Amino acid sequence: MQDACGQCGLGFRPYAPAAGPAFLTIAVTGMIMAPVLSVAAAILGPDRTPLVLVGIVTMPVLALVLLRVIKGAMVGYLWALRIGARPDDKD
Ligand SMILES: [Zn+2]
Repeated sequence: MQDACGQCGLGFRPYAPAAGPAFLTIAVTGMIMAPVLSVAAAILGPDRTPLVLVGIVTMPVLALVLLRVIKGAMVGYLWALRIGARPDDKD
């Protein structure tokens, strides 16, 4: 995460969301991929090799895309509620 916004200079350090984005990313990735892989397993039959190969590629890519979005959303949420901000912080 960058230290400050490139546009307005708002410092992001007080709004670091810790492990929240990682937890949500794992949960959302699982909620998306579990039904997809279940349906694919039912369609593909007993051979799980293509399923494993597709899962190995898609799950990390999906997680990395979601992590960026979810982390940005959590920083924005923490900033909006001023969670982590000190009283002398401006905006
Ligand atoms: Zn900004």
